[in-house]
Order: sequence, then structure tokens, then C-alpha cells
Amino acid sequence: MVARIQTQRFDASALLRLVEALEPAPVTPAPELSAIDGGQTLPVDAPRPPANEQLPIASNGGVSSDVLRARLEAAAASQARPQAATAAQHPTLRRGASGAYVKELQKALKAKGFNPGPIDGQFGPKTEAAVKAFQRANHLAVDGIVGPKTWGKLHAAGAASGSSGTSSSGSRPPVPHGRAAIERVFGQHGSSHQVTTTLPIGPGGRNVRVTLHEKLVPVMKAMLQEAKEKDLLKYIHTFDGMYNNRLKRSGSSWSTHAWGIAFDINASEGSSGRVNPKLVALFEKYGFYWGGHFGDAMHFQYCRDY
Ligand SMILES: [Zn+2]
Repeated sequence: MVARIQTQRFDASALLRLVEALEPAPVTPAPELSAIDGGQTLPVDAPRPPANEQLPIASNGGVSSDVLRARLEAAAASQARPQAATAAQHPTLRRGASGAYVKELQKALKAKGFNPGPIDGQFGPKTEAAVKAFQRANHLAVDGIVGPKTWGKLHAAGAASGSSGTSSSGSRPPVPHGRAAIERVFGQHGSSHQVTTTLPIGPGGRNVRVTLHEKLVPVMKAMLQEAKEKDLLKYIHTFDGMYNNRLKRSGSSWSTHAWGIAFDINASEGSSGRVNPKLVALFEKYGFYWGGHFGDAMHFQYCRDY
């Protein structure tokens, strides 16, 4: 048990992506396994850890077994290993298949910039064509059959994306916390990473031209597609801008709009207005933190703590 847990590779970024996909609320990354001491027992005369990390020492000279067990369980629980688990558990799909896994496949294709047709859970010719295009782009065997390798690439952040052609880094950039992380993920504010595209974020979901950071194009597309499927676009009354290389209204630091990673809707309803809670929850599921948490209800930003 101890050895197995110690040798598992812990993909913190994958876990974070999973957690952020599931959790609408702000999240804190799970602790690194290495910070949990890996379940080592300490010999009697080993150097003691610093006081703030010191463990209760059992009479046999090792770490008390209860503490050890609790720590190992916490470490195991923190290792969701979503990529390995999902790739292994997903059935092989081909034309003619239907159901929830086909729907997931279609959503994943769409998020990567490939067009599988309607997200209807039916693996028809359009979905097959999108699978083949995805396989071609990712140097897989182009057979239109979705087995473990194709699933793996669909779940991988770094897989090649398709027709949107605007993002080279996959479908979901990590949600940065704080200014330094924003610059690591999105670069400097200003106009070097922005693109203009059409998105259904106008009144009631009408298509409008939007200028935004290129890395968020697939995120916005997938998010608005899901909003459309859930009939939530009707709660968008106005679209009030995304990229704008300006300072925050309240101070001298740069607005998240200056990176093109924030958008405003329903501005006429005011900073303290209301946005439909289901729409807020959906946007937050995709990584857009709602400004309503800090008194700016029209605003959604793809970052935290800034
Ligand atoms: Zn805003």
C-alpha cells in the first residue's frame, strides 16, 4: 500500500483541471503528495522534522499508525488521476454507437475545435468525420474508431486542436490565481494574443463579434454551446465587451479585460444586478469567476485572486 502510493505519478495540473471542471466555487489546489511526507516512518534517531511539521511519534519509534493511515488515505483521496481513470474506463466507440459516452465524445471534440454536428449522443457520419480529423491532427491511426489512444488524446490538454486554429495549447488553459500566474498563462496584457471571432453571447444567444484572448476561444465556444443546450442563453440580455486594454475602474492595476480574459454581460442591470444563478454556475464551471462575488455582477473573469 505504502509503496504503491509512493510510486504513483501525481499529475497536479490534471487534478486541478478536474477539480475546476467540477467545482463552481473557488478552489485551492490539492497538496502535493511530497508535502505529505509520503508515509515514511522515521527511525528512532533520525533527524526530527521542523516543529511545525512534527508528527506524533509512536512508542515503536515510527510515526503513529493512526496518523500514518489518515495521511495515506488523504493522499490517496487527493489522487483522482482523472486521465488514466477516464481513458481506461471509456468504451471503444465507432459509428452507430449512441449514449452518454458518445455525447461526451462529441463535447470533447467540440472543445478541441472539431465539429461533430449536434451534441446528441448519436455517433453518425459528422461525428465520425470529426473523429478522423482529430486523429489526423494528433498523428493517430485515422480509422474513426475511438479507443483508448484517441480517448487519451481527447482528454489531454496538449492535444492538437482543430479548425478554430487560434489556440496551440489545448482546450482549457489552467485558471491562474493572481497577477504573476495570469502572465504565465496568458502573457502580457495588450494586443499580442487577442483574436476576434463570432460567439453566441449576444442578446438571447445571438452571434456577435468578440475580441478575446486566443486561448479562451475553445473554452468560450464549449461553454456557450452547453449554455445553449441547457437553454440558458436567454438570460444574456446584452453583451458588453471582453478585450479592452484598460485599467481597473477602481484603481491603477490592469483590468482582466486588458488580457481579453474577462467579459461583461447585462451591464444595463448594473454592477449590483442579478445574473441567473444557473448561468453563473455554468460559467464558473468553465473557469470564469463571477464578479458578483466582489460587487460587479456584470463581470466574469478567467482567473482568481486578482
Ligand atoms: Zn468586466
